[in-house]
Amino acid sequence: MPGDRKTPHAIVGPGVSVGGAGLIVVLAITTRTADATGPGFSTAMSVGGLTVLWFLLRGVRVLSIETLLLAATLFVSDMTLGSEPELAAAMAAVVVVQTLVAVLLLRRWCPDLWGCGGERPLDRPRLLARYGGALAVGMAVGAVLATVAWTTLTGERVELGGALWFGRTLCSSLVVVTFGLLLGERITSEPPRPRLLSSASWLELLAAVAFTLGMYVLAFWFDELPLAFPLLAATVWFGLRFSTLLSATHSMVTGVVTLALTLRDIGPFAATDREDLGYLLAGFYVATIVVTGLGISTGRDEREALAAELRRTREEAEYQASVREAVIGSMNEGLFVLDDGGSVLLHNPAAAEIFGLNEGEMTREALVLRSNRWADGTPMPDAERPSSRALAGETVRDVEILVSPGEDLPDRVVSVSAIPLPRDAARGRARALVLFRDATTEHARREELAAFAGVVAHDLRNPLAAIDGWTEMIADELDTGGLDAQLAREFVSRVRSSSRRMRELIRDLLAHATASARDLDVARVDVTEIAREVAAARHAEKQVTCRAIPAVLADGVLIRQVLDNLIGNALKYVSPGVDPRVIVRGCPHPPGCVTIQVVDNGIGIPRGEEEQIFDEFHRAHYRDYEGSGLGLSIVRRIITRHDGTITARANPDGPGSVFEFTLPAYDVGPDDATE
Ligand code: ADP
Repeated sequence: MPGDRKTPHAIVGPGVSVGGAGLIVVLAITTRTADATGPGFSTAMSVGGLTVLWFLLRGVRVLSIETLLLAATLFVSDMTLGSEPELAAAMAAVVVVQTLVAVLLLRRWCPDLWGCGGERPLDRPRLLARYGGALAVGMAVGAVLATVAWTTLTGERVELGGALWFGRTLCSSLVVVTFGLLLGERITSEPPRPRLLSSASWLELLAAVAFTLGMYVLAFWFDELPLAFPLLAATVWFGLRFSTLLSATHSMVTGVVTLALTLRDIGPFAATDREDLGYLLAGFYVATIVVTGLGISTGRDEREALAAELRRTREEAEYQASVREAVIGSMNEGLFVLDDGGSVLLHNPAAAEIFGLNEGEMTREALVLRSNRWADGTPMPDAERPSSRALAGETVRDVEILVSPGEDLPDRVVSVSAIPLPRDAARGRARALVLFRDATTEHARREELAAFAGVVAHDLRNPLAAIDGWTEMIADELDTGGLDAQLAREFVSRVRSSSRRMRELIRDLLAHATASARDLDVARVDVTEIAREVAAARHAEKQVTCRAIPAVLADGVLIRQVLDNLIGNALKYVSPGVDPRVIVRGCPHPPGCVTIQVVDNGIGIPRGEEEQIFDEFHRAHYRDYEGSGLGLSIVRRIITRHDGTITARANPDGPGSVFEFTLPAYDVGPDDATE
C-alpha cells in the first residue's frame, strides 16, 4: 500500500548528515591532486553528487543546520588542502547553492520520484529527462558561480574552468544520486520486488561482467588507441537485459574505475596532452554511459509496465465478459440488445424461450410479429413499442404487452422495460437494451383480485343498503309518531340479520386471506377426532357419523377449517323437514395419501356446477340458503396448499352429494415408500 511506504526521511537519521560530511572530508584528503588548478580542482573526485543525495535523503530545507554543516565541512576541507580563506568560503557557498538548486528543482520537476517527494523508481524516459535536466541545471548554476568567484578572487582566468566544473559535478551527481535513489527505493518498497536480474540469468550476468572487464582491459591497456567507444556496448547490454538498479550499479562502477584510472594517467582519456581536458572527457564519458544505460533501462521498464498493464486489462476484460455472459445466460428475465437498423445484436436463451423462437430466429421482424398487442389485446403502434421508444432515447419501465409464442401455445403477458444505450459511433446507430419477464400469472392474479374486490364491494353493499332502508323506515315511523313496539321489533330484527350477514362475510373474507397467506405448520393430524369436535361444536353429534380415518400429515388448524366448512354445508343444504345425515370417512389411497369423503343426504349440487361451486362467490342455491360463496374456495385453497385435490359429485347411494379430497398420509407404508 502506498500509505505504508517509508519515506527516505523516515529511514535515514541525522547520522547520514554526519556520515555525508565525514565522507566529503575523506574524499577531499584522499583524492587530493596537486597538479590540477582552477575552481574546485583541489580534489579529483567531485562531491557534487554526494551533497545532492544527502540533502534529498534528509529532506533538507534552505535554512537549516544541515546547510550550515555542509558549508562548514566544505570550508574546512578546502582550508585543509591549503586554500585561501576567502576562496574556500566562496567555493563552499557555491557548492551549497548548487546543491540547493538541484534539490529544489528535483522536488519540483520529479515530485513522484522516490526521494523527491514521491514513491516511484526512475522507470520512465520522460522522468529520466526531467531528472537529468534538474541535475544539469543545478550543476550549471554551480559552474557559472564557481567561475565568477574564482576569477574575481584570484584574478586568474582558467581555460575550460566552467566546463570542467560542470562535467565533473554532473558526472558525479548522475552516478551517485541515481544509484542512491534506486537503492533506497528498492529497500523501502513492499515485496514482491521486481527481479534484480530482470529477465536475464546469473550466467548472463557473469558473461556481461566478463565482457565489461574485457572491454575495459582492452580500452585501458591499449591506451594509445582511441578505444573508448566499445565500452558503451557493455552499458547497452546491462541496460537492455538487467534491472535499472543493476544497470545503474554497472554505470557507477565503470564510471568510478574510468575516473580513477584517468587520474592515474591510464586509459584513453589520459592520452590527451592536457590533463584537465582528460578529466573533462572522462567526466562527460561517464555522464554519457550513465544516461545511455538509464535511458535504455527506463525505456524497457516503461515498455514492460505497459505490457503488464495491457495483460492485466485484457485479463480483466475477459473475466468481465465471462461474468457478463454467465449472468445474462442464467437470467430468468429475457434480454436483447437491438439497433435502429433492425439488427438484434445480443440476446439470452430466456428471450428466445419467452418468444418461442430458436436461437437463429431472433430477428426484429420475428419479435415484432409475435408481440404487436398491448396486454388488453388492442394493437400496439410501432412507434409506441418499448424498443422503438428506447431507440428514440426514452427510458421505458414495466409496460405490459402480449406475446404470442406460437400457434399452439397460449398468449403470455410480458412486462417490458427498455433503456437507451450509448450510440454505436462507428456505424452511426442508436442502440437499446430491452428486458422482459413473463407476467402472465401476476396479470391474471391482478385481474382476479380486481374481480374479487368488485364482488366483495357488491356483497357488502347489499346488507348495508338493507340496514339503511330499515333504519330509514324506523326514523319515518318515529317522525309520524305511529311506531308500535311489534313493528319496531320486526325492523330491528331485520337490521340485525343484515349486520350478521355482513359480519359473516367479513369473517369468511379474513379466512379466505389467511388460507393462502398463513405458513403451513404440518404435523400428525387425527381427522376423525377433528370431525367429531366440529360436529360437537355444531351440536350435531347425532347427525354426523365419523368413521376411522388414517392419520394425515397436515396443518391441524387449516384441516379443522376444511371439515367445518364441509360439515357445515352438509348440514345446511338439506330440503326443509329432512333430518340431515352426514358421514365422514376415509381410506389410505392412493399410495402416500389418504382420501377423505364427506357424504350427505342433502339437496345435491345442480348438474354441471360441480366444479364452479369451488370458485369464489359462486353460489348454486343462492335463493333459499344464506352464505357468502367463499367457504368452498377456502377449502380448495387449503387442500391445494397440502398438494391434495378436491372434487364434488352426486351421492351414488341416494340423494345428496359427496365431497372427496386427498391429503398426505402420516404413516407411509412399505409399499408406498417404494413408489
Ligand atoms: P356458501 O355455503 O357460503 O354459499 P360455499 O362456497 O361453501 O358457499 O358453497 C358454494 C355453493 O356450493 C353453495 O352456495 C351451494 O350452492 C353449493 N354447496 C356447497 N355445499 C353443498 C352441499 N353439501 N350440498 C349441496 N350444495 C352445496
